[in-house]
Amino acid sequence: MFKNNRQTSHIALGMSITNTALYHLAFFNFVFQEMETGTLRQLLFSFSLLFLMVTANFFAFYLLLSTSRRVGKILLSIFFILNALSVYFIHTYGVIIDESMIGNILNTNTEESSSFFSFKLLLYFFLLGVLPCIVLWRISIQRESWKIFFKRSGLALVIMLSLVVLNANQLLWIDKHSKQLGGLAMPWSYTVNTALFYIHEAQKNKKEILLPDATITNEEKSIVVLVIGESARRQNFSLYGYEKNTNPLLAQTANIHHFDANSSATYTTAGVKSILEHKDSSDLYEILPNYLYRNQVEVIWKTTNWGEPPVHIANYQSKEELRQLCKGDNCQYDEILLTNLKADILASTKNKILVVLHTSTSHGPSYNTKYPSNFEVFTPVCTSVDLANCSSEALINAYDNTIVYTDYLLHRVIEDLKTLTDFKSTLLFVSDHGESLGEKNLYMHGLPMKLAPKEQYEIPFIVWVSDDAIKLKTNPLLSQHHVFHSVLHFLSLSSPIYEEKMNIFEN
Ligand SMILES: [Zn+2]
Repeated sequence: MFKNNRQTSHIALGMSITNTALYHLAFFNFVFQEMETGTLRQLLFSFSLLFLMVTANFFAFYLLLSTSRRVGKILLSIFFILNALSVYFIHTYGVIIDESMIGNILNTNTEESSSFFSFKLLLYFFLLGVLPCIVLWRISIQRESWKIFFKRSGLALVIMLSLVVLNANQLLWIDKHSKQLGGLAMPWSYTVNTALFYIHEAQKNKKEILLPDATITNEEKSIVVLVIGESARRQNFSLYGYEKNTNPLLAQTANIHHFDANSSATYTTAGVKSILEHKDSSDLYEILPNYLYRNQVEVIWKTTNWGEPPVHIANYQSKEELRQLCKGDNCQYDEILLTNLKADILASTKNKILVVLHTSTSHGPSYNTKYPSNFEVFTPVCTSVDLANCSSEALINAYDNTIVYTDYLLHRVIEDLKTLTDFKSTLLFVSDHGESLGEKNLYMHGLPMKLAPKEQYEIPFIVWVSDDAIKLKTNPLLSQHHVFHSVLHFLSLSSPIYEEKMNIFEN
């Protein structure tokens, strides 16, 4: 298809057309979907976008290859491989590669990423990634004079500017959809957003802002167990009216209260931060466990998950540490979090105790691997990581089984707390965000809040109290920040930061 020896500008144009053709199905699909169809103006606009993409990428690739043919080839190869992987995730899970998705990817550990591995992924990798690289490396590129370079790149710039000017009336439309367009344009989605992510991380990594000191106001022995859910969406809990019985144990439990709540974000790091912070902020304020620990409360953190802001306490137990202590058959599942729960509480000499259990129970895409086999209540279940390949019924069955398992975990915590009769205790279960299970062809989570469907942010907020004399306020809709103030109230901590209206308990 190519002669063996080609001018740089021809290769840059060829690679730009290849790049546009191979990796932008979702991009143009989106453009066509979002536009009022049929009008000539819209059709012209779509063509303009297409030409703009080809010209802009030509300009960038031309610059790269002209600066150094070898470095240009290496960079283009990396782009093709990463494009192929990005397009796999876009096509398979309906995600877009925006800044928060980059954050998800960079924070994902190898164990989690291995659960995405599939034959289809390999296919994308070879056909859309490796193959274009082979073609590129078989061509030898003939250097052009700088005079020709400036002429041709100048022409590209003029074309780009003219296209922008001609479509100036569409700027509002582009602005409105900039997140999706940017998240679907290769290779700029991940290159630009990775840069943005690191810039914002550096800003965030400032030291956490300390809150004013708190004081413990009585000697009553009390415990809060905060269970942070992972991708648990409200509508699949039978406590909230779901037709399948996913809460067989909690439904039988006295003193259970449930509230509607919305998460502040649709991905783990932001959702967990929001559960632990006293208010919505892009700054990092002292989070609940650090604040309580600094103010003489016993704080225990057990996790099978990741992504929380830095926790500065003495008793932090990672999954690996819990695994060494765990006995029994189910140590690869989230009940590992219950290891030594009671013993750790009883070992404390403090009157006020906060335990945080950070679960990973409903994390996709391999829902069917997140619970022991006896919790496979609903069948058949989806066993593929390519969720769109499963029937909706099998996918939802697998997800619902994770909720049945969550029901069991919460039940076990409550049973433990009931035996600690010297303490007044409460369990709070709040999810980091929701989950899409194929509604509107979306899967998993992570869409920006502005675009996210309700499945990705409507979360359960379940409360159990040890004594029916402990009353709860009626509340139409809670936020994740209610956790912070409610815990302060329950443990009788007085603090200038405390807000009574964010407390779920009655006085
Ligand atoms: Zn999450």
